[in-house]
Amino acid sequence: MATLEINDLHVTVEADNSTKEILKGVDLTVKQGETHAIMGPNGSGKSTLAYSLAGHPKYTVTGGTVTLDGEDVLAMTVDERARAGLFLAMQYPVEVPGVSVSNFLRTSATAIRGEAPKLRTWVKEVREAMERLNMDPAFAERNVNEGFSGGEKKRHEILQLELLKPHIAILDETDSGLDVDALRVVSEGVNRVREGGEVGTLLITHYTRILRYIKPDFVHVFAAGRIAESGGAELADKLEEEGYESYTKGGASE
Ligand code: ADP
Ligand code: MG
Ligand code: MG
Repeated sequence: MATLEINDLHVTVEADNSTKEILKGVDLTVKQGETHAIMGPNGSGKSTLAYSLAGHPKYTVTGGTVTLDGEDVLAMTVDERARAGLFLAMQYPVEVPGVSVSNFLRTSATAIRGEAPKLRTWVKEVREAMERLNMDPAFAERNVNEGFSGGEKKRHEILQLELLKPHIAILDETDSGLDVDALRVVSEGVNRVREGGEVGTLLITHYTRILRYIKPDFVHVFAAGRIAESGGAELADKLEEEGYESYTKGGASE
């Protein structure tokens, strides 16, 4: 059973010629099959956590550990992280000129599985996954992220998730910018992947809206660079009613 373990993680970022500590001791364990929601005010460091796990060069880990089944994630290259089974939705946010969605997905699947998927079954797999996400088949021939709308980017994320079948998936603000219909389609995709029981999901979100469609097993409130409180799905209901105010008193967030 794959387990992602984050232990006392400290991360800094360079901004305006000074070094700012953003993550101040994050502790979190996500196991395959579990869905964790990380919620918190803007500026609390949620995306910094996601980028740090993705190995983004702008973020410097100054303390703590991250392991996947005991292996040191922080020592891995971005590609090695993907091969180890970590899926980070923001890993490929940039346009990939001349590479179609279809080729990109097959290359990714080859890297992760260690062998190229058979072309004929692969084409069928992609087509069926796209149908489930209400995606136009022509989308497969477009270049990755080139002119994608917000909704298309999110659907592309979930398409990758369904096809690449990672052990641990980290989705940052997958719900932002989606209308209700798109939100439902994307949520259904996450739930399908989750039903298999093989993927552990870390769902990062500012709003409780997506949690009407995806019921988390655990909810963590992020405030000022660390987890301020953890609980079950009921904690999200409390946040919906009360907001983040009690966590930000005296703090700089929001
Ligand atoms: P959240 O996702 O919870 O809204 P972020 O992780 O995006 O929070 O940001 C946390 C804090 O770190 C903010 O004060 C933000 O300005 C700062 N920060 C994050 N990334 C960068 C960056 N690349 N350069 C400068 N400051 C950053
Ligand atoms: Mg600490
Ligand atoms: Mg963010």
